[in-house]
Amino acid sequence: MVEESRIRELKGIGEKTEKLFGKLGVCTAGDLLRYYPHRYDIYEEPVPVSELEEGRVMTVTGTLYGRVQVSGSQKRQITTAYVKELTGTLKVIWFNMPFLRNTLSGGGMITLRGRISAGRNGVVMEHPEVFYPSEKYEEKLHTLQPVYSLTAGLSNNAVSKAVRQVIDGLDLTRDTLPREIRLKYELAEYNYAVRGIHFPEDKEVFCHARDRLVFEEFLRFILSLRKLKENNQKLANEYIIEKKEETEELIRRLPFTLTDAQKRVWEEIAQNMSSDTVMSRLVQGDVGSGKTIVAVLALLNTALNGYQGALMAPTEVLARQHYESITRMFEKYDIPVKTVLLTGSMTTKEKRRAYDRIECGLAKIIVGTHALIQGQVFYDNLALVVTDEQHRFGVKQREAFAQKGGTPHVLAMSATPIPRTLAIILYGDLDISVIDELPANRLPVKNCVVGTEYRKTACHFMKQQIEEGRQCYIICPMVEESEHLEVENVTDYSRALKEEMGAQVRVECLHGRMSQAEKDDIMERFGQNEIQILVSTTVIEVGIDVPNASVIMIENSERFGLAQLHQLRGRVGRGKHQSYCIFMSSSKSKETRKRLEILNKTNDGFKIASEDLKLRGPGDLFGIRQSGLLDFKLGDVFQDARLLQQANEAADWLYSHENEYIQKMSDYERISSVII
Ligand code: ADP
Ligand code: MG
Repeated sequence: MVEESRIRELKGIGEKTEKLFGKLGVCTAGDLLRYYPHRYDIYEEPVPVSELEEGRVMTVTGTLYGRVQVSGSQKRQITTAYVKELTGTLKVIWFNMPFLRNTLSGGGMITLRGRISAGRNGVVMEHPEVFYPSEKYEEKLHTLQPVYSLTAGLSNNAVSKAVRQVIDGLDLTRDTLPREIRLKYELAEYNYAVRGIHFPEDKEVFCHARDRLVFEEFLRFILSLRKLKENNQKLANEYIIEKKEETEELIRRLPFTLTDAQKRVWEEIAQNMSSDTVMSRLVQGDVGSGKTIVAVLALLNTALNGYQGALMAPTEVLARQHYESITRMFEKYDIPVKTVLLTGSMTTKEKRRAYDRIECGLAKIIVGTHALIQGQVFYDNLALVVTDEQHRFGVKQREAFAQKGGTPHVLAMSATPIPRTLAIILYGDLDISVIDELPANRLPVKNCVVGTEYRKTACHFMKQQIEEGRQCYIICPMVEESEHLEVENVTDYSRALKEEMGAQVRVECLHGRMSQAEKDDIMERFGQNEIQILVSTTVIEVGIDVPNASVIMIENSERFGLAQLHQLRGRVGRGKHQSYCIFMSSSKSKETRKRLEILNKTNDGFKIASEDLKLRGPGDLFGIRQSGLLDFKLGDVFQDARLLQQANEAADWLYSHENEYIQKMSDYERISSVII
């Protein structure tokens, strides 16, 4: 077997299973090797009943106490048992497993592992795995079982078996990292790492294996950034763009004064665009710092120089929002610059019209989604591309534009609050401008961290805000299908909320399984205040600007990374109204409280990011999942900051030794798929 072998060659994989794997993007043995588990089940030491924590999966050993009862309807039978140990008695329930009454009739010691949830009289363990007699648990103790992302029809066991076959069948002895680097940073061998990431014997093996793979992922990323930078530096400026008086006039006429930071960044951009080399610049600024206007100045200035500028947004909703605010602004100040919109969901006729205007050069500013770089679009003289909260603008995109004409200037805008030390590494290919100041007229968002018992009060508060004309967001975490009742599911949640809020208040929900058109429709109506409460998973678009929204309530906030929570909070406090952010959490863990307290105390994204970094240690690996900021397969910019810095050092070393590893990187293009 080699990495390129089709998985069909594996035992137990026929045509049908091959198709299912295909849905997961797994076609070859190599794909399977890199199809890492997204989490692990850990079999930890049993804990006393008095120390059980709601919301967590925990293990208890005790004696069966009293009778095992079966109740409920034929469809949903509930089996109830009680387990007693020194510190208390625990109620345990199973769904549709009535046979347990017989199995457990002998009494005695039992070990149970399951999720703890709140019951009417104290906590309950729900649908646990049973180890009976109790000794059976010892075999599993401390082991980690891989949990893979699945698709209907494909079991975790099937994936796990296939992975095992591949690991046993492939020759994994060659090492992809240079030996010097591996020794210097005490990284595991490839062979060990691959085995250890899929089937770790314990946490230590897992951490060692993962570190090695994350390190390599970062290193490859950093090296390709450096390549990109080398390429960019060779690009001469084909479009010299001078600062125009009309742009300066717009600045003077705006209803607000630019902050000093905005002015400085605008100067940096203007300077760069009139210099000898083409611009590749990142504008980093916290949510609400006013990045859009800076981008608009650059676009307008480009248009006034006779060239075209494009603004690319990650979603249709955001693209439309930008288009409308730009056209409104130009109308208001009588600026005769033609702006057009181009998105995938426009009709063929509408698109045709836009294409024509772009090609003949009538359209000077083009706002859109990825449709901007598709085949049918031909630009007249595109000189600037701005990307907002967007996929990283990589080699591929630049090439796509280059094929449509010359080499445009690139300006990427991002609210991702990463500490400067990390930003320099992650955006190594770009020059960085920072807007480190918020407009002065902002009322800081008022925060609170509360337990679920506060939910009623919170609903009452939102009702009041809505009566005053405001709107609210409620965020629920994504729901994993395998997990039972423990997370507030968006649809159920909004149904219950509708009842609570009454007919006057319109509640709608938004989640990842909806089509783009459905999402756009909901966002559009929310923007028009036809919807007052939006219940959403985190698919809620970055960058969305509905200044009338004044409350955001985040359920199960312990499940999100701090940076993500900060992004979410940025949806409010964008207008003149006092805004509020309610972090709801049932977690009693000190660690969680500490993390949420950071958000409670400050609204400064950069400060939060650095605090986050300090708090996260390797111990957190199984807690909060990925920060969701950069789309690395394994690595997490925040959690693995140490590895990122080491990989950066290693890249320096490879360069100074002209190591062959760098040459091997030349066809590596993953960078184009990494999200800022
Ligand atoms: P972000 O940086 O998150 O993209 P936006 O550019 O959407 O922020 O700006 C948020 C809001 O602040 C917008 O409604 C914008 O008009 C306004 N704004 C931008 N700059 C200023 C300023 N200097 N003073 C006051 N309001 C501003
Ligand atoms: Mg924005």
